[in-house]
Amino acid sequence: MDVLTPEQRRRCMASISGKNTKPELVVRKLLFSLGYRYRLHYSCLPGKPDLVFPGKRKVIFIHGCFWHRHDCKKGKSMPSKNKAFWEKKLSDNVSRDSKNIDDLNKSGWDVLVIWACEINNLELLGVKLHSYLQTKSE
Ligand SMILES: [Zn+2]
Repeated sequence: MDVLTPEQRRRCMASISGKNTKPELVVRKLLFSLGYRYRLHYSCLPGKPDLVFPGKRKVIFIHGCFWHRHDCKKGKSMPSKNKAFWEKKLSDNVSRDSKNIDDLNKSGWDVLVIWACEINNLELLGVKLHSYLQTKSE
């Protein structure tokens, strides 16, 4: 999966999307201050991870709690209207996420998911990011 032709790599990097959510910007700023450098939205990988560390073969997803069903208050909330629609949509998101993580793991990538609510404690988040990125993937 890392054996890309220059053309593939170019296309990969060209398709960087414009989704710069607030939690994502916070995590990026934090990583930068910790001295880590990354690539953004590497669309050639399953699930287009938000942050990619090609040299370390590590990726980070920054997930909204509601959309990706975090085990927190917001992640457990369900709109009262069109309940069936939302349940289906959100459980589809969750299955897609776990399939993407599976696919990444199978191709030798480590995956860390950061939840949007985790940006409320930057100190803890910093420790988490640091220990994830320090650890060798073997
Ligand atoms: Zn959450």
